[in-house]
Amino acid sequence: MTAGLTSDVPEPRHDRAILGLSDRCGCLLLVRHTTFRFCLNPTVEQHAALARHAGASRFAFNTSLRLVKHALTSKRSDPALVSWTGFDLINQFNAWKKTEAAGRVIAVDGSGAAEVARTGLGWRTEVCQQVFEEAAVDLGRALAAFTASRKGERAGRRVGFPRLKRKGRVVESFRLRNKRPKGGTPPIRVGDGAPRSVTLPGIGMVRVHDDTRHLRRLIATGRGRILFATVARRAGRWYVSLNVEAADLHPAVRHDPDHAAAAPHLGVDRGLHALAVAATADGGAAARFDNPRSLSAAMTKQRRLARAVTRKQKGSANRRKAAARLGRHHQQTRHRRHHALHAVADALTRHPRVALEDLNVTGMLGNHRLARSISDAAWTELARIVGYRQGWRGGQVVTVDRWFPTPQTCSECGAADPDLTHAQRTYRCAACGLERDRDLNAAMNIAAWADHAARDREATGPDTNARGEERSSRRARVGETSLSEAGTRHAAA
Ligand SMILES: [Zn+2]
Repeated sequence: MTAGLTSDVPEPRHDRAILGLSDRCGCLLLVRHTTFRFCLNPTVEQHAALARHAGASRFAFNTSLRLVKHALTSKRSDPALVSWTGFDLINQFNAWKKTEAAGRVIAVDGSGAAEVARTGLGWRTEVCQQVFEEAAVDLGRALAAFTASRKGERAGRRVGFPRLKRKGRVVESFRLRNKRPKGGTPPIRVGDGAPRSVTLPGIGMVRVHDDTRHLRRLIATGRGRILFATVARRAGRWYVSLNVEAADLHPAVRHDPDHAAAAPHLGVDRGLHALAVAATADGGAAARFDNPRSLSAAMTKQRRLARAVTRKQKGSANRRKAAARLGRHHQQTRHRRHHALHAVADALTRHPRVALEDLNVTGMLGNHRLARSISDAAWTELARIVGYRQGWRGGQVVTVDRWFPTPQTCSECGAADPDLTHAQRTYRCAACGLERDRDLNAAMNIAAWADHAARDREATGPDTNARGEERSSRRARVGETSLSEAGTRHAAA
């Protein structure tokens, strides 16, 4: 969009401190991370190649894990001697794949092409080498998470020691980095050859079902570049998720920091039946977002399909078919829900300050009711989407303590009604006589709580933005991303 930047795009820099300087000379700032997901339409050969890469990824993960386990048992006296950073794991695997031990493995598996005379992994040249490296990196992360969790340095649920990935039990997937040779073309490309296509190293140009226009435009104008691609098979289809580093949103869709700092919070309550109910402390900007009707119908269908699976004999072809039907249905529902959540998140983040009810997710896991667990999952996902979208827009998100009794408090006079039951759709205050929709009352309470907390923070110190933006970064800069190019998870039918 900017003259002089179309052909010779400067290499984007990562350091935000450096970025602050390059801003003045007109270089592009690629600071936002987003994902573009496309549904692949592979040929029969490509389908086999994708499955081979996913298998290789699983194989590399499992082999690396076995090497670590072996090292642990042989050096039992001092486990600290066993190194398991991603880097070490890559080197270990790369050394292993050329040994005779790896060669024997392929002779037993019998891929057809393997020669027993040669040592090393016979098919190692048939897949892109990065798949091995990325699988080792994944194992390194899993081991690091395990170590951190054991030392108590990691929040959330306890993380166990990584387990072997069993075929059929894990999502088939692999990851490829967009390692660009100096001055050369990047190996992962979009729309090279055909507009609706993604080119992957080791696999070639794969057609996709979705429109790639927004991403192509982002890359062509130097406002975005692909960092890596994750390819996964879900419900019988292959999808590619392209992780993109992109320029900030256009100032027109970003919040003015001066205005944002003074804006009242928009309280968001999940409601009893609604997906979300929003309002400011004085009842302004009130909005109610209902769950799409299609989702409740989908849940009925889900129960029916799940019953159909359990009725079929274990290990039978009919059971496999029924399970595939259920899987496809899950995937469709997921896409629909995602679409709805993005629409709600978009509406909410038009407000510069959003206050969300905090759900302690790990505390909710004991609940086995289907409707409840789906609602919890949707809320967690909505909070995540609102979080990063608000970050793109330069707004703020705060979470409200989950022990704050938002539904039981009067939003007008602050009196508490601890006896409020789930059946009561309207809040009636005994102290001041207020009658208000229960969810709206809760949303207004959340907003009031957040306003109050913000005033407290202002009294003690400066407030921070969702992404720690400096005010100067509001200045219009070259090549910003329009909202339509913000990046989405494309829902394919
Ligand atoms: Zn009252």
